[in-house]
This record gives sequence, structure tokens and C-alpha cells, in this order.
Amino acid sequence: MMDLTLNNGVVMPALGLGVFQSGPEETVRAVESALKAGYRHIDTAAVYGNERQVGEGIRQAEIHRDEVFIETKVWVSDYGYEEAQHAFEKSSRKLGYPTIDLLILHQPAPDRFEKTVAAYKGLEALLAAGRVRAIGVSNFLPHHLERLIAATDVVPAVNQIELHPYCVQPEVQRADAAHGIISQAWSPIGGITFYPGYGDERVSVLEDTELRAIAQEHGRTVPQVMLRWHLQRGRSAIPKSVTPSRIAENLDVFDFELDEAELTRIDALDRGVLSGPDPERSDTPRRFNFDRLIPED
Ligand code: NDP
Repeated sequence: MMDLTLNNGVVMPALGLGVFQSGPEETVRAVESALKAGYRHIDTAAVYGNERQVGEGIRQAEIHRDEVFIETKVWVSDYGYEEAQHAFEKSSRKLGYPTIDLLILHQPAPDRFEKTVAAYKGLEALLAAGRVRAIGVSNFLPHHLERLIAATDVVPAVNQIELHPYCVQPEVQRADAAHGIISQAWSPIGGITFYPGYGDERVSVLEDTELRAIAQEHGRTVPQVMLRWHLQRGRSAIPKSVTPSRIAENLDVFDFELDEAELTRIDALDRGVLSGPDPERSDTPRRFNFDRLIPED
């Protein structure tokens, strides 16, 4: 296991389990199986509708709460100073724990950026009160970071962004690094590019011939090579799986190394396009419309 130290000194396991689109029962089992396999970091979100099951999975694994790094996100419908703090209370209650290790804003709300800033100030208040150990953002472009940092006191610890070999976002990574923010890869093995129903143009990064060649040279799988690439580039990654063998496979990346030439070959696969929602737009595309997932309470 490899750790990353956040800009406030808090230590975060670099690799975590993602649970977006994991159904309720699947989530309990995936979290339990991940923790038993050695994961110590889970990434969920209010909008995924499975925080309750994440907490249940942790308890079923019989791992002490302090040994697990729990990350969750505030959805845009809860932006605002009071609203974000209320959203934290809901997440905390659902997870079943009074503190959360890392709480992040799910995405900027560009046409209501003042609400985004107010929500972040709500996160700062939670940090000061010791309810969360670190705060951050997700899907922020460099200019969003600049505006947020200019208007607030605490520099985000993490920026969780779409990041896989077909979408490397070098300018966002540079901005993160310049501010001391850890870039955290969502869809780290390209899940977004091969999720069925996300358009006909999608191609699977798992089928990439360059990645296959590198994987073959090391006797590893393509997802393992991608995860190794993230870690060696200093990033956090949160691969999702509900399949125990894949959950274990994705953690089994600490006994081989890619050389600089291989890392550069992978960097060069970047196609420079996002598969996920456009962070410049507030209207979440229909396929990303989560509102129906958020329970009423
Ligand atoms: P991933 O890149 O993690 O890919 C997940 C997909 O890959 C699933 O279909 C999974 O299938 C499959 N898979 C996992 N491991 C393997 C393997 N070893 N071999 C072959 N297939 C594999 O994509 P996600 O989009 O889920 O992103 C990961 C996490 O990032 C999310 O769960 C979520 O926590 C976060 N996220 C954050 C977003 C944001 O806006 N902040 C947006 C999107 C994601 P199966 O489960 O059936 O095994």
C-alpha cells in the first residue's frame, strides 16, 4: 500500500475503491471484500445513494473505523454555506460515523459559482470544527481553482478529476501541483469510456494495443498497468469494481514498476477530450442526472 500526504499533513492511502453505480447490496459486498483484500480508502458520494451501504460494508469487514479513509462528496443541489454543512450531517448519519476523512465538492456549479464558494466555506467550517479531516473539490478546472482559492482560506487537499490514459488533463494536473493539491483520478482505468450507453463513439481503453504491449512485457493486466501509472505519477486513483477478483487485482500493483519511457508512452495516449460532464456547464447531461438517486431526507 502506498500513502500520499495531503497539504494539511493528513495521510491518505493513494489507492481507494470507487462505488459509483454499485448497487446497494453490491456496495456492501464490494466494500467488505476490498477491506478484506487490504484497501483502506473508499470513495463514495451523496449522489451515489450508497453511503449507508459503504458504512455497512466497513462494519461487516470488522475493520476499525480509524483504519479506513472515507471520502464522500457534496452534490450541487446542496451548495450554499448552511446547505453544505447539512449535507455533511446527512452523509455522516448515513455512513454511521461522526467524522469523514475527506469531504469534497462534487463539481463546480459555474453559473452559480458564489454558491460553490459558499459551499466550500461550509466545508471549511466543518474542518475547523473537526468534523472532517480534509476538504477538497472535484472536476475543477484551473480557473475554478483560482477563483475558489482567491475567495477562501483553505487550499483544497484534492481535486478529483476524470483521468485515464485517454484523458490526462495535463493543464489541470499542473494547476493542482502548483497549488499543492493532489490530483485524484476518477475512472482511473477508463470506466467512463466503456460504460455501455455513454454513446456510440466510446472505445475501451482496456483494448488499447500500447497498454496491452506494456502489460504483456510485465506479465500484468492492463488495469494494473494503468493504476501503476497513476501511482508513479504521484496521483491517487479510485478504481471501481464489484467483482472480488478484480477488486484484488486492482490492489495488486505494488510489486512491479514502469520505467520512465513506459510512463511517457502512456502519457502520450491522451486524446485531450473528456468523456464525462463538461465542468464549464451547469446543466448536467441527462445521463448524469442523479437527482432521482438522492433520497428525500
Ligand atoms: P473505473 O475506471 O474505475 O472502471 C470501472 C469499470 O471497470 C467497471 O465497469 C468495472 O466492472 C470494471 N473493472 C474494474 N476493475 C477491472 C479489471 N481489473 N478488469 C476489467 N474490468 C474492470 O470507472 P468509474 O467511472 O467507476 O470510476 C471510478 C470511481 O471514480 C467511481 O466509482 C467513483 O467513486 C469515482 N467517480 C467520480 C466522478 C466525479 O465526478 N467525481 C465521476 C465518475 C467516477 P465491475 O464493477 O463489474 O467489476
